[in-house]
Amino acid sequence: MEGQSLQVEMSTAKKEKPKADRLEFGRTFTDHMLVMDYSDEHGWHNAKIQPYQPISIDPSAIVLHYGQSVFEGLKAFRTKTGDVQLFRPQKNLERMNHSNHRLVIPPIDEEFVLYALKRLVDIDRDWVPDAEGTSLYIRPFIIATEPFLGVAPSQTYKFITILSPVGSYYKEGINPVKIAVENKFVRAVRGGTGEAKTGGNYAASLIAQKIVEKDGYSQVLWLDGVEKKYIEEVGSMNVFFKINGEVVTPELNGSILPGVTRDSVIHLLKHWGVPITERRISMQEIADAHQAGTLEESFGTGTAAVISPIGVLNWNGKEYVINDRKTGDLSKKIYDTITGIQYGKIADPFNWIEPVTNKETVNH
Ligand SMILES: *Cc1c(COP(=O)(O)O)cnc(C)c1O
Repeated sequence: MEGQSLQVEMSTAKKEKPKADRLEFGRTFTDHMLVMDYSDEHGWHNAKIQPYQPISIDPSAIVLHYGQSVFEGLKAFRTKTGDVQLFRPQKNLERMNHSNHRLVIPPIDEEFVLYALKRLVDIDRDWVPDAEGTSLYIRPFIIATEPFLGVAPSQTYKFITILSPVGSYYKEGINPVKIAVENKFVRAVRGGTGEAKTGGNYAASLIAQKIVEKDGYSQVLWLDGVEKKYIEEVGSMNVFFKINGEVVTPELNGSILPGVTRDSVIHLLKHWGVPITERRISMQEIADAHQAGTLEESFGTGTAAVISPIGVLNWNGKEYVINDRKTGDLSKKIYDTITGIQYGKIADPFNWIEPVTNKETVNH
């Protein structure tokens, strides 16, 4: 992979950009995409930024039958001064390689891919919206492309990155959500693929999501796959609780996705001297804390919303209202700090920001 080069083919047609208030998550894509191929013979090669376009794939490609794929999700932000910057992109590429390992996909060169991603975002930098709370969502993913119906790791892969301008997650201010604790279906088990960011985990989760949506719950809270007692995560977010002044979150046990936002929140809390513990948490413990009046706040964490306060938890038909369905002070402080760093409004003492300079000129 040494000395990989990046080709650039500029689009001649420029698409119209949606207005800031009409941005719907994941429906509009920019003018360009990044592609790269893998073969056992050449390793990762053919890295190219090209006009956004459909890809051609053999109907027998392994990904279409056995789901051998991984993905990532991160964002580019526009600062007040017009600069464009990424938030901890190295963590996403490192995680992609962990997912790759689990799915038997060859590792990517994290440094080269970061360089290529920054070039891509630079080329489409006019697509990074500047309205309050908006951003450019970056979706890198890898699919197994070998035309073969045998169950075996593919010998060829395609790495692709597409970009999508997204609107503010909280158009009317932060709104606590209603979450239903899932007692029947499970998302992942230890030893399974829960800690990898792979499409199959989501395919397996759709049915539970669909059922609770009918009753007005936005997502499900997953319990452990064996005893269905211990809390794992919420839909596409990690989860935190503040009990009697202490913050707790489930420890990374092999079936939980290690969120970059989760890691950032833990970092911040430690920096502030707020007690934070990663450990096993049972749903009964949360119900007991609620009963005792010590369950002060709860929130989900993820790239899309950063912080999503939980106002109501439904467990076995009983509704547990948290903090009067209002956003807690700590939740708000974490949200303001992380978004403040992302948009360059406040200092970045942790070196989380990666600038996308105009005309990326790193030598490769
Ligand atoms: C991506 C994801 C998260 C959140 O990860 P971030 O890096 O914080 O965006 C949490 N849970 C699941 C299942 C995910 O796929």
